[in-house]
Amino acid sequence: MAAIELERKVIGRELCTGCGTCIGVCPTGALSWEKGAVRVDHERCIQCGKCYRACPGESFPMDLYAKELFSEPYAAGDILGNYRRILNVWAADGNVKDGSASGGAVTQLCIDLLETGAVDGVVAVRAKAGNPCGFESFIAGNRQEILEAAQSKYVILPVNEILVKIREADKKIAFVGLPCQVQGLRKAMTQDSVLRDRIQVVISLFCGFNMEEAATRYLIKKSGIAGENIKRLSYRQKRADETGFFLAGKDGKSFFLPKHGYTFLNLIYAPKRCWKCFDYSGEFADLSVGDAWEEPGGCSRVIVRTKIGGQVLESSLQRGTLIGKESSAEQIQKTQKMVTVYKKKTIDIRAARMSTFPDYGVKLPQSRGKERRFGCMLYLILCFFHTAFGRMAARLLPLKSMARISARLKRKEIH
Ligand SMILES: Cc1cc2nc3c(=O)[nH]c(=O)nc-3n(C[C@H](O)[C@H](O)[C@H](O)COP(=O)(O)OP(=O)(O)OC[C@H]3O[C@@H](n4cnc5c(N)ncnc54)[C@H](O)[C@@H]3O)c2cc1C
Ligand code: SF4
Ligand code: SF4
Ligand code: SF4
Repeated sequence: MAAIELERKVIGRELCTGCGTCIGVCPTGALSWEKGAVRVDHERCIQCGKCYRACPGESFPMDLYAKELFSEPYAAGDILGNYRRILNVWAADGNVKDGSASGGAVTQLCIDLLETGAVDGVVAVRAKAGNPCGFESFIAGNRQEILEAAQSKYVILPVNEILVKIREADKKIAFVGLPCQVQGLRKAMTQDSVLRDRIQVVISLFCGFNMEEAATRYLIKKSGIAGENIKRLSYRQKRADETGFFLAGKDGKSFFLPKHGYTFLNLIYAPKRCWKCFDYSGEFADLSVGDAWEEPGGCSRVIVRTKIGGQVLESSLQRGTLIGKESSAEQIQKTQKMVTVYKKKTIDIRAARMSTFPDYGVKLPQSRGKERRFGCMLYLILCFFHTAFGRMAARLLPLKSMARISARLKRKEIH
């Protein structure tokens, strides 16, 4: 019954985030990730119910988890959830910083956790062997593996399928993932004492939107480099003061598009479940990390939420591997205004209009005035690009002009 419930109540109702938790907790390997969706092999299912119970797609009781993790009710009025402190942080080692998405805080924290013996392995995401355009989660066990897995991958990935391996290996683990993956992990940890013992610290990335694989295919097509000729693909390659999508061809050709230039693709290729997501900053992690866009050259914004998160960050600051200065919620709101208003302040618009919606166990904020108008407009754009006609129109969009508009909007927001 349970796997059928997962199919009917979550996967079949556009509530699956693709986090991979169900695959990671299934004791018989009855679940797998195929063509961007969870597939159930009913022959192998023993009806244990673990998958459905750990799934964050249909419900994630925020207040319950806030009380458990922070010993206080969910901070419903705050766009960042419950937290203690916010800092701008960057890696002191130039190689770590240059190879990362923002300031390299996540990579450096993971290296420090490993090298001080606090953990034996780190959950990270790397390119698949022989396929530079495909990615998978794995347990990184040394500095080199962590460095190779740096940078954001803007594509839906069932990262939590790694829970199977975490259970098998008798190792202390640091987990890095997106807000929905963290929610799935928290649910799985509640139900499984082995996972609770193994996982020492949970780090979330901020997540405004994620994108279907089609977005990557679109960028590859526009680059003019044939898929089979790609040697390396990265979504956040650093170039001078910029960071962006980069392709290196086997024949020496390359392609670069600044990050803010392809942000518009979120509107076209975000899966519907991402429209229903009410967690921008990884509200149920020990530490959450995003971009501090106001700092040129790359800087990570770190939100400390728990005591353990504070200790992990403080240890790296004291060792001098990370350098930091105080930041604030206002700074996040100012430099990430559109995405935070969309995600945290106008969620009521989508909750009222979409045929299915997750149960977050909290009262959603009600949008008003200018913000409400912005939320409605964005919802209409999302709906348009989700139609067959919209998808066709998207393929014809002139990349250079769209990139210019997209980058100009972001510049206006930051400055
Ligand atoms: C889909 C997505 C959306 C994001 N949206 C925002 C946003 O709206 N605003 C914002 O400020 N920041 C956002 N971020 C976070 C931002 O891109 C950086 O990851 C963050 O600033 C940390 O930078 P860093 O230099 O400290 O991390 P790095 O040192 O580069 O380390 C990044 C770590 O994250 C892991 N990782 C990368 N991609 C994934 C993935 N898809 N799933 C799980 N783990 C992964 C890597 O393996 C690595 O360990 C997003 C990231 C992703 C993947
Ligand atoms: S656990 Fe995650 S991947 Fe599995 S059905 Fe639920 S939301 Fe989808
Ligand atoms: S065996 Fe259990 S966890 Fe696996 S699919 Fe069946 S009900 Fe879900
Ligand atoms: S927007 Fe939400 S549901 Fe979508 S990938 Fe990000 S955290 Fe997951």
